[in-house]
Amino acid sequence: MERTGRNVLVTGGAGYIGSHACKRLAAAGYVPVTFDSLVTGWEEAVRFGPFEPGDLADRARLDEVFARWQPVAVMHFAALSQVGESMSQPGRYWRANVLGTLNLIEAAVAAGCRDIVFSSTCATYGDHDGLLLDEDTPQRPLNAYGASKRAIEDMLRDFGASHGVNAVIFRYFNVAGADPDGEIGEWHRPETHLIPIILEVATGQRPSLKIYGDDYATPDGTCVRDYIHVGDLVEAHVLGLRWLEAGRGSRVFCLGSGHGFSVREVIEEARRVTGHAIPVETAPRRAGDAARLVCGSRRAVEELGWQPQRTDLASMITDAWRSPRGVEEFRRRLSST
Ligand code: UDP
Repeated sequence: MERTGRNVLVTGGAGYIGSHACKRLAAAGYVPVTFDSLVTGWEEAVRFGPFEPGDLADRARLDEVFARWQPVAVMHFAALSQVGESMSQPGRYWRANVLGTLNLIEAAVAAGCRDIVFSSTCATYGDHDGLLLDEDTPQRPLNAYGASKRAIEDMLRDFGASHGVNAVIFRYFNVAGADPDGEIGEWHRPETHLIPIILEVATGQRPSLKIYGDDYATPDGTCVRDYIHVGDLVEAHVLGLRWLEAGRGSRVFCLGSGHGFSVREVIEEARRVTGHAIPVETAPRRAGDAARLVCGSRRAVEELGWQPQRTDLASMITDAWRSPRGVEEFRRRLSST
């Protein structure tokens, strides 16, 4: 076994949330071992522990990595995660997310690693007429992305019953912001997420922002989402890991702020933070979008002791604005330090 003690296998550790989790894990004394195919991740973002390139489709490669590092737990972030794309290419989502996770769980069980922290999503819920979602809300996903994540939740439960897998499942939605130290950021190719796109419009990299639908049954007609700072999110993941290490067993936790912001409110806040005009145009609704997704996190606060620190949109947009935006800027910053 390489290194000692508390190796944690982080699938998707080269991605946005995964790389932030690796930084936090390293600070908490763990060794985050990134397993990533680099299909959507960035090798340069693997800075806080070893890197094992590989695809979840490759069971033999997974077995090799488990044997080499003997992780105490897995944090499973690797997934395809774009709602719109999941509607046009559902097969990719079922294959990568569901079959990939099946390989991962079977490899973990075979290696004797039974603790898994899993990134699920409020997209498993679908529309619930303005309700504050919580762990007991029925899951009725509107898109293949959400459906694939719900299937993984079921899979984890089955492996819990049959093989003693313990899973902390976090359902969260719109993760935003970036490492306040500016060491890493949020980069996707192509970029589809609201806040990074707004910031690209602010800097003139795009002419305008398309608002996907302004005829929803929400106060200003645009979709309402619960935004959570990536720093608060990864903090919850470390608490989830400790929960499993303490032998407290499988549990689902929703992570959000309980406050919803509409697309127009996010744009307004970004105008204030950046000082730039952000031209917008109205476009048709995007397939698979729910009108409103806001989740309560009482359970995470009460049971995990989670205390989110950066719950205001301004902090999230400010940290994203200061962070390297785009991998090219990240590379420039790295080479100048
Ligand atoms: N959105 C938008 N224009 C964009 C990107 C996103 O109007 O260019 C909207 C999208 O319809 C959704 C919200 O912003 O209501 C958040 O979308 P995002 O893709 O960031 O996250 P998702 O909610 O799909 O996880």
